[in-house]
Amino acid sequence: MTVPPDPSGPAGPAVDLPARRLLLVHAHPDDEAIGTGATMAYYAAAGAGVTLVTCTLGEEGEIHVPALAGLAAAEADQLGGYRITELAAACAALGVTDHRFLGGAGRYRDSGMMGLPTNDHPRAFWRADLDEAAGHLVEIMREVRPQVLVTYDPNGFYGHPDHIQAHRVAMRAAELAAAEGFGPAKIYWTAVPRGVLEAGVASFADADVANNPFAGTEHVDDLPFGTPDEQIAARIDGTDQHTAKEAAMRAHRTQIPENSWLYAVAGNFGGEFMGVEYYTLAAGVRGPGSGPYGWEDDLFAGLDAPTGVTGPAVEVPTSTPGTPAAAGVR
Ligand SMILES: [Zn+2]
Repeated sequence: MTVPPDPSGPAGPAVDLPARRLLLVHAHPDDEAIGTGATMAYYAAAGAGVTLVTCTLGEEGEIHVPALAGLAAAEADQLGGYRITELAAACAALGVTDHRFLGGAGRYRDSGMMGLPTNDHPRAFWRADLDEAAGHLVEIMREVRPQVLVTYDPNGFYGHPDHIQAHRVAMRAAELAAAEGFGPAKIYWTAVPRGVLEAGVASFADADVANNPFAGTEHVDDLPFGTPDEQIAARIDGTDQHTAKEAAMRAHRTQIPENSWLYAVAGNFGGEFMGVEYYTLAAGVRGPGSGPYGWEDDLFAGLDAPTGVTGPAVEVPTSTPGTPAAAGVR
């Protein structure tokens, strides 16, 4: 939908928008499904506005469908275009109708893993001018007025350059939008609690499944991600949406092999492992929660004026990047 400029000023409520509005910024097609698919499906089902911005087409991804191997970057270099169709199918599975590419499809290219020559491609997202890239996102924020922004932590969750850049762009855009009066009230970063990882290590270190991030892992400290449970701010229970999330992941068939550890986890643990997603709160005021750490069960918790919340994002903490990773997830 297109919202006309609001004559009452940049902070005025935009009349045609849903009451609750969530914006997610991801690096590649498939990140939305793997990292936040249950959250997206949960809020879409609840009638909230859910806008997905994907920063690249994922041109440098591996291809797990043999018949499509010729699409690879070193061959026909058509993978990015193909992945647009996968992303569209994934969003349909999640019930999300508003998905866009940052700056339009093809503006920014997948940079590949850290240190590879693909980092230096002229259109590599890793090389993007920060304010130019953030400017594209500010225009989307101006239109959809998200109260809640979701992206990655400063290490891009696990160190991929496009994930790090997505973090930088999203945070800069939030800052620029706040200066104009429509910054998101809360900013969350995706996270996995160490307690959840410890259960994963115990269950999967020896499992014979593809791309197993726990393979050979003896301790959770060996993993490139993981947040102390007490630093988690929100736990979104999308158990009822876990089948939608799995369907969205299966839509990314070039990226996620049929025998992926992700599906093995889903099979062993049912809806909770797949459907429950966690976040840290990077900016904004934490709402009421429950349990030993007071985890929120709603990203909009504490936002008591849902149609008019346009206050500036609060101070963003500088961070401690974790270990750059060569994990097999991307
Ligand atoms: Zn990615």
